[in-house]
Amino acid sequence: MTTPPGSSRRSSHAEAILGPELSARLPQTKVLLVGAGGIGCELLKNIVLAGFGHITLLDLDTIDLSNLNRQFLFRKKDVKQSKALVAAKTASAFNPNVRITPIHGNIKEPQFDISWFKQYDIVLNALDNLEARRHVNKMCLAAGVPLVESGTAGYLGQVQPIVKDRAECFDCVPKSTPKTFPVCTIRSTPSQPIHCIVWAKSYLLPQLFGEDEDAGGELDEAEKQGENAQEIATLRKEAVAFKAVRAALRAPAEMTSSDAAKIVFAKVFRSDIENLLSMADMWRSREPPTPLDFDAIRNGTFVAKKSHQPNGNGTAVNGANGAAPKAPGSAATEQLLNGASSRTTSAASLKDQRTLSLVDNLELFVASVNRLAARIRSGKEEAISFDKDDDDTLDFVTASANLRSTAYGIITKSRWEVKEMAGNIIPAIATTNAIISGLIVLQAFHLLRKSYNSLRNVHVQFRPSMPLSAIKISLPNDSCGVCRDNFAEILCDPARVTLGEVIDGILGDGEGEGAGTGKRDVSVYEDKRVLSDPDWDDNLDRTLESLNVTRGKFLSIVDDDGELETIQLGIGILPPNHSVDEPPYILPTPLPQPKRKVKPRLLEKTPPPPPTGTKRSAPDDDDVPSAKRSKNNGVLQVDKSFSPSKRRKLEEDGLIMIDLADSNLDDADIIVID
Ligand SMILES: [Zn+2]
Repeated sequence: MTTPPGSSRRSSHAEAILGPELSARLPQTKVLLVGAGGIGCELLKNIVLAGFGHITLLDLDTIDLSNLNRQFLFRKKDVKQSKALVAAKTASAFNPNVRITPIHGNIKEPQFDISWFKQYDIVLNALDNLEARRHVNKMCLAAGVPLVESGTAGYLGQVQPIVKDRAECFDCVPKSTPKTFPVCTIRSTPSQPIHCIVWAKSYLLPQLFGEDEDAGGELDEAEKQGENAQEIATLRKEAVAFKAVRAALRAPAEMTSSDAAKIVFAKVFRSDIENLLSMADMWRSREPPTPLDFDAIRNGTFVAKKSHQPNGNGTAVNGANGAAPKAPGSAATEQLLNGASSRTTSAASLKDQRTLSLVDNLELFVASVNRLAARIRSGKEEAISFDKDDDDTLDFVTASANLRSTAYGIITKSRWEVKEMAGNIIPAIATTNAIISGLIVLQAFHLLRKSYNSLRNVHVQFRPSMPLSAIKISLPNDSCGVCRDNFAEILCDPARVTLGEVIDGILGDGEGEGAGTGKRDVSVYEDKRVLSDPDWDDNLDRTLESLNVTRGKFLSIVDDDGELETIQLGIGILPPNHSVDEPPYILPTPLPQPKRKVKPRLLEKTPPPPPTGTKRSAPDDDDVPSAKRSKNNGVLQVDKSFSPSKRRKLEEDGLIMIDLADSNLDDADIIVID
């Protein structure tokens, strides 16, 4: 027997549970684990103990002090080291028969191309951002490698096994994107604490301490989006006045720092608000704000507006806790946050969770402006940006947001709450990560056994009666713009191969088994860029490199008649022994054979009448080439051949596809942008 001594006892439990067949395979199984954070650390431990033999662990991050409460492979001495490297080292000790290869890098780097993914038997995602998860999803579909996707948010978590053509992919169900707010809500008319927090974090802090950039771009954009022009004009004036304030903060100066804070205060909490108030129209249907008064707040004579939300402390002149006004500028921040001057219960006296009075917020504002200004003046930092773990910026955002809330009659928030909201923090819970990591391994076993009927989407949910729900996996969404495509890889030298050679090569001559679909009308994209279409061939003689189509990227070859699946062609590199005398590319064998698509309802309409003036026409309306025009008897119409992926691309570009008057479209088919 070749079993190393000790290993039979070590693996006897796994053998009993997994059965001889799977447990014998695991030591040869190659697994890619993407992410060595909360889920990743737990999962690495699990797969090392389960007996996976070859593990590649990839993460681009370094260890932060705040990780240590749940990422148990790291210790304090590891802070600032690579997560992948440290996790691999720690976990290697759990099982001497396992080889872990750590990579400190970004999974989106070009060398991690389709060929690279193909070397794995299975991929496990333990990622925390949408973009990387979508990327790995696509790469696994392209490489034909099964994936287990996962995520946690507080007490909630989910595990999703993904295997091409058998299960929904990560993109089959659209994901909601992070919430954004209109510029005017943030800048002029906040109505919720979060609006004031976003303002303090993303607008005021960068304006005062960020890089000196022109905020005009954002306002130009807002104007284009049709936001109130008068409001925008006022905001532009505000932006100009900021220059003087920035200068005051940077003056090496005889000016005492308290004066600088006062100048900032007078501008943003008084004159800017007064300017806004002068626009009577704005306040017809909403409660107008109250300009704040620095000295009156310090003297305790300022009467704030009553907050229009429950539990507000806006009525408190000197704060909810009745603290006496502090001597100007003398309040130590620590003392402030500790609530040393107030009689508070032990729970409320927790530094970060205490409700700050108006005067507390003013003093915290002064203190944090001074500290930030001193950092800039010291010359060590040119610009300061928000970091929830940087106390100075968190104090500044807390105080500024609360002062603004007071002006607008919005309830204020504790430093703790601001930290959560500004940092978009959903508390990470070690237990949830542990449960999810266990479930990932179970789904991975089903995938490795190819017991596709056993696959489940599993959710950890906040329901005591059913904390775990396991749902049979669904089939792919027919209109998914990712997994319904036909994936292939071409190995090539992008500096030598032309776009035309690639397209002709991939389409093949269409005769016999594996000879492609033959020449047909196609449009070619890289991401959202159109590189060619049947009536525009300017790029066909250009090399891929000159078109910036390089290793790791995809060419999307879209059938113009909308009948065949889109070909997603990944760009890989030639093997080192490829002779320069041979063509600078190796086509996939067999060539892609995209299937005929299930026709969406949209395409079954009979010939439409000419478009009416109120309808938007085809996105490429202006340059619809004559050939296309004649096909449609000169009538401009939305090309019926838009495939779901082409449609998706156009929609992502903000282009709207509305079919013609008699087309009975459901609302779901139309994206309207006002
Ligand atoms: Zn899909």
